[in-house]
Amino acid sequence: MRFDTVIRNGTVVTAMDTCVGDVGINGDKVSAIGAQLPVENAGRVIEAAGHLVIPGGIDVHTHLDMPFGGTTSADDFQTGTIAAAFGGTTTLIDFAIQYKGQTLRQAFDTWMKKAHDKAVADYAFHCIITDLGSAQLEEMAQLIREGVTSFKLFMAYPGVFMLDDATIFRAMSQAAKYDGLICMHAENGGAIDVIVQKALAEGKRAPKYHALTRPTTAEAEATSDRGLPAYAETCPQYLYLSLENMDAPGFEGAKYVFTPPLREKWHQEKLWQGLAKDTLQVVSTDHCPFCFKEQKELGKDDFTKIPNGGPGIEHRLSLIYTGGVHGKRFSPNRFVEVVSTAPAKLFGLYPRKGTIAVGSDADLVIFDPNEEQVISVKTHHMRVDYSMFEGIQIKGVPKTVFSRGRAVIEAGKFVGRPGAGQFVRRQTYSVV
Ligand SMILES: [Zn+2]
Repeated sequence: MRFDTVIRNGTVVTAMDTCVGDVGINGDKVSAIGAQLPVENAGRVIEAAGHLVIPGGIDVHTHLDMPFGGTTSADDFQTGTIAAAFGGTTTLIDFAIQYKGQTLRQAFDTWMKKAHDKAVADYAFHCIITDLGSAQLEEMAQLIREGVTSFKLFMAYPGVFMLDDATIFRAMSQAAKYDGLICMHAENGGAIDVIVQKALAEGKRAPKYHALTRPTTAEAEATSDRGLPAYAETCPQYLYLSLENMDAPGFEGAKYVFTPPLREKWHQEKLWQGLAKDTLQVVSTDHCPFCFKEQKELGKDDFTKIPNGGPGIEHRLSLIYTGGVHGKRFSPNRFVEVVSTAPAKLFGLYPRKGTIAVGSDADLVIFDPNEEQVISVKTHHMRVDYSMFEGIQIKGVPKTVFSRGRAVIEAGKFVGRPGAGQFVRRQTYSVV
């Protein structure tokens, strides 16, 4: 048997198993996993002894090239997917936004164009619905057939994204009929808006009031259910940062203005435990970068004008490995599950992605579990002028990253090609 590439002697970690062995790649697929695969005729042999070989990370919540709050998120599909790849993420699910009066098709086409020539790794889309007439209701079924199998609805941002209960109910019913999945931004937007207006009237305009006007009760009310099957994500910022970050001097707190907001520090451990115990299934990033200069500054005198979002696409795997595995909260297998396998299953990418198996896409990361780095804006690859995680030490770093059999990152360098990433038609979800 001949291989294009053999990754030798790595510790192959999936959500289920750990074994030391070789992974053979032909074309864009994994073609063999075993002990001592023949390497005589292999196109390329990579030694991975002492390293983990894991499935490429899947980030199911990113906002690249997204217009918001009078500006546009700072990473496009090129810089965003490159930064993602440096961090070991090889598939993104971004959001195609349907603006009021548009068809869902227009939203999908617009975002496909943004990604097409730029993405260096694979991508898919959720569709954000803001307007659901009978034509768009029919389109939901069509999009599901074309591989856009999940829809994002907002219970917050009145006047922009927020939907009324009737629309939410119609969307959920239609999704149920065609096996689509609804992703919900769950905060009581109406109540929050009243609190925000009151704060502004009292002259409370600093960045931290963004968090203080969005109380946990507004989230609790929006997430309560009757024990129905629901899954939940968290993001590294909620595991590493807290309300204290928003007390930074001057306007610095604006760097941490995103939604849902940061909470008191004690929430962090609860969230880690949620991941350990599977109350939370997925770690995504909600990557939505705005530069501090000129973008975040739009809200210098009024926190409601600060573009909401933070940059996080690059360090998800390292941060979760550091706090989860080195922090002795869960196993390397659970790490793989929350950053890759569970997202793949929920969003219809499994087993093509999210695992290492014969026939799966060769989206692979050779990960050094013991290398240490300090996160900094000086070394990151995101196109944004600050890091939310500045100064945080990580232990566990991606070294070589493959997207469908092609190296994208090697020896700390980007070696991929813009436009090489492909749109992935997703299946409907399966139970995690
Ligand atoms: Zn988001």
